[in-house]
Amino acid sequence: MRLKIQGLVKMMNNVRDRLKASLTQMQADELSRQVRRNLDAVRKLCRRHLSSPRNLPMPSRRAFEYLDSLKIEASLDSDMDTNERESHASGSSIKIKGLGSIVESFLNQMALSWDQEKIAAFKKQAGYYLTKTLDLLKRRRSGITDLSVKQQRLLVRLELYMDDAIMEIIPKNVRCFIEAFNRHWENHSSKDQPRIIFISTNNTLWRYREDKKGLVIKISDLFFLKDDPPFLEKFAETLVKKITGRRVSIKEIRQWLTNDDVLLFQKRIEEAVHHKKNSARGLVYDLDLIFEKLNKKYFDNKLSASGLSWTMNVAKSRTGYYYPLSNEIFISTALDDKKVPLYVVEFVLYHEMLHMEDGIDSIKPGKKIHNLSFKKREKKFKYYDKAEAFLRRLAMSK
Ligand SMILES: [Zn+2]
Repeated sequence: MRLKIQGLVKMMNNVRDRLKASLTQMQADELSRQVRRNLDAVRKLCRRHLSSPRNLPMPSRRAFEYLDSLKIEASLDSDMDTNERESHASGSSIKIKGLGSIVESFLNQMALSWDQEKIAAFKKQAGYYLTKTLDLLKRRRSGITDLSVKQQRLLVRLELYMDDAIMEIIPKNVRCFIEAFNRHWENHSSKDQPRIIFISTNNTLWRYREDKKGLVIKISDLFFLKDDPPFLEKFAETLVKKITGRRVSIKEIRQWLTNDDVLLFQKRIEEAVHHKKNSARGLVYDLDLIFEKLNKKYFDNKLSASGLSWTMNVAKSRTGYYYPLSNEIFISTALDDKKVPLYVVEFVLYHEMLHMEDGIDSIKPGKKIHNLSFKKREKKFKYYDKAEAFLRRLAMSK
């Protein structure tokens, strides 16, 4: 029997109109509750007639599917609150709340997509979310580059998850890993199998904690980017031993993360990210001139930067950044001030130039970047103590 449901298309059009205007958190919540209620009623109605929404005639079915996939948009829409919109108007960046957990939920969905149907569903939803996010930014008269670097990285990661090669390799490796993990777990522990969650980050390789429902392990996506079953076996074993309190070395595991596939993945992210910047010439200090001087004095002129600039924001605690993949240095605009002595600016730039000297080594996951040798080289700067003291005071000031 063909079931016809009146009003679904009308409702879709209504909702679309409502979404054209920006909604407050409350309005968005209310709207999504309303939509959910109506969709549940449709489902129930279909069930009562031994049918399903998938069997509705075309315009109704499309309306149903549109409304059903709207959950994400409603929460996203309400996620940019008024404050952020206002601060954006004054030139600072905007933020999508909860982006990290959304991207991670996509990662987990993809990582466990072990059949074609699930992969297709993942691709559809992730693509839908990305398009909606970009649309939303456009409606706010901004673009992806108005997001913080951290949020940009997350969106690029999501885009990479949709890459055919990555979508093939991650679920395959995840399956191989889980299988090995469970096997080692049974050998080493009598407790229940822990829950495993995958996370979208280079900074934390893994983390585990006990909660009410048992042990939860979070593992970085980086471990699943390269086809290497013997490594996954070793990794699973090491992790089980570590969690169950045995002494194991993780040096090899960290070392493995410097393989080309992992570095390429990070490179693809960094290349897509846009850093807002000013020029090298500030109001008081010119970074190009200072770089030249330091390069000659401390580095035998062997460094060259692809970009030097003052930052857009005035950070007082983290005053310098080096991005190895683009080979750029950023110095906080807080230092472009007559009250800041030249040797302080020089020292901050010198510190970043040391990172530049280390190059790609400094982003290898799990590597300690400010290690002993780094600190030794840092102390070669002529005014090291004075500059350090000044920066400590600056970080404490308001
Ligand atoms: Zn540093």
